Amino acid sequence: MPTPITGRCFCGAVRFRFDQPPVTARACWCRDCQYLSSGNASVGVIFRTRGFTVTGETSEYLSRADSGAMMRRRFCPACGTPLFSEALEEPNYMVVRAGALDDPEIARPESVIWTASAPRWGHVDPDLPASPGQPGPVSAS
Ligand SMILES: [Zn+2]
Ligand SMILES: [Zn+2]
Repeated sequence: MPTPITGRCFCGAVRFRFDQPPVTARACWCRDCQYLSSGNASVGVIFRTRGFTVTGETSEYLSRADSGAMMRRRFCPACGTPLFSEALEEPNYMVVRAGALDDPEIARPESVIWTASAPRWGHVDPDLPASPGQPGPVSAS
């Protein structure tokens, strides 16, 4: 995968890059993600925080996820695009919303998580490993 990996918010006020390829990508059906992705699963691309740079101002919102982790989520204050999620307990990794990547092709999910929270009409790819709730930490996988 060619690096750097770049992306931006919808309006372009926030731009970011990673010097390393992502660790993995997964589709998440947790209830929080449904709010942030208009009802579908969100596709989160997990990167190492090292080698991350961002320009432009972001606003943030802290909340406790269903997993129990305290999450810091960052958005563009101008256009509202959800961009980054970080578990405060796991500072070496961060999750980028796949829609913000310049090349969404690199965000193909390798697993599906929180399937127990999906609505009955939700499509869960039967070919991918699925977890009804929170899987183990990324650092252990
Ligand atoms: Zn924006
Ligand atoms: Zn989620």
